[in-house]
Amino acid sequence: MQDQNHIGGTFRPARSGATDDVLDPATGQAMGTAPASDAADVDDAVRAAADAFPAWAALTPRARSELLHRLADAIAADIEGLSALEARNVGKPTSIIEFEMDLTVDNWAFFASAGRFLEGRAAGEYMEGYTSMIRREPLGVVGSIAPWNYPLNMATWKVGPALAAGNTVVLKPSELTPYTALRLAELAADVLPPGVLNVVCGRGETAGVALVEHPEVAMVSLTGSVAAGQAVARAAATTLKRVHLELGGKAPVVVFDDADPQAVAEGVRAAGYYNSGQDCTAACRLIAGPAIHDEVVAALVAEVGAIPFGDPSAADTEVGPVVSAAQRERVAGMVARAVDAGASVAVGGSAGDGAGFFYEPTVVVDVDQASEIAQREVFGPVVTVQRAPDEETLLRWANDVDYGLAASVWTRDVGRAMRMAAGLRFGTVWVNDHIPIISEMPHGGFKQSGYGKDMSIYAVEHYTELKHVMVKH
Ligand code: NAD
Repeated sequence: MQDQNHIGGTFRPARSGATDDVLDPATGQAMGTAPASDAADVDDAVRAAADAFPAWAALTPRARSELLHRLADAIAADIEGLSALEARNVGKPTSIIEFEMDLTVDNWAFFASAGRFLEGRAAGEYMEGYTSMIRREPLGVVGSIAPWNYPLNMATWKVGPALAAGNTVVLKPSELTPYTALRLAELAADVLPPGVLNVVCGRGETAGVALVEHPEVAMVSLTGSVAAGQAVARAAATTLKRVHLELGGKAPVVVFDDADPQAVAEGVRAAGYYNSGQDCTAACRLIAGPAIHDEVVAALVAEVGAIPFGDPSAADTEVGPVVSAAQRERVAGMVARAVDAGASVAVGGSAGDGAGFFYEPTVVVDVDQASEIAQREVFGPVVTVQRAPDEETLLRWANDVDYGLAASVWTRDVGRAMRMAAGLRFGTVWVNDHIPIISEMPHGGFKQSGYGKDMSIYAVEHYTELKHVMVKH
């Protein structure tokens, strides 16, 4: 298992020699260490990326694409090893990890090709005697900062489009989950020129801050919490860096009286508890019409009560631990405060057994729209349920949060589905499903869920600068 930074083509410890323990969430024990890097290591990595930039940017789209396809193939060939590493470091059940790993491979293949489709929209004579054209150019060194919930997949969403557009990258994985990023660096070291992809491990407040503040970093792309996004946007203002922020979510599941309650319950079981609910688009906030509410709660409680929960390495486990003791405390605290505020736990609601960071799959009902648990991201295996009296209230409550990442609508009425799709202020709206994602379509937030899109050609475009060239005849 690689446990050193990757800078300019070589693996090395932090200059200070400091390391942090990295825990296995299923046991609470250390599974290894990673460099506790600081500004000196970040500076080394940014310089390596800056040195590699001119040659990488000068490659033809075809040449870059061929190298990135080789990397995509290397990732695909190593997928079992990457999956095992990710499962252990995040506490993911082996039964669920295939989906995100398959998406990761497809994301790399997509980005490798998408870099060939970048274009400027106009070329022509817009002023007499002159020809104008648009050039789309890479920005330079991109600082990519990834979270712990899907460490390799989120790193892919940050790094893939940046490289495809001709930028070089310094990736800082989460301090909790550095290992698949370091494995990615090993695979990339066999394919990409030195310095094109650098990985620096360390905490947000040291390595992360140093990356955001570095004057030679042209853009910072962060997936993380709203608080981290705000800190990054504030710090980036000093050097006026471009910022791309994919932040938290509080996805409503808007259920009308004509929906199929069993389909809703199965959909929420799959999309609300996947990855222990540690998903920014998790189906975490069910708002049901008055006639379907009781039936949907009964179906959901039956589904959630039947979720195989526990040891993530057991073949049938669907929900394992959350990532850390702090995360479990956050989840437990929010459920306890919801109950104090008048809600009740319909199923679950307790920490699991053992030294690992387990918390039971939980449904909380009779939740008030203004309460903390309806308004703030839990990021754990907890779904809340609210009863709304009519369509106007369903839409109003769905939109009445600071977040705007994703939402779903459940109804058999096409007209109503279209009205809701237009009215919901979220970056993705699913109808009669929740959570499927694909490389070709953008993923990103409205409101405090951030700005900029991941995946799709829009992501690749975001890592470029437009230049107008005007030639006098
Ligand atoms: P986090 O904000 O604690 O950390 C994310 C990353 O940012 C880590 O690498 C961390 O070290 C770094 N960081 C923290 N503070 C920083 C600072 N001031 N400057 C620079 N870097 C800093 O988030 P997390 O707990 O790792 O991940 C969970 C959060 O990520 C949730 O809020 C979740 O909704 C969000 N998320 C969003 C998406 C999306 O696509 N919108 C996807 C996955 C996760």
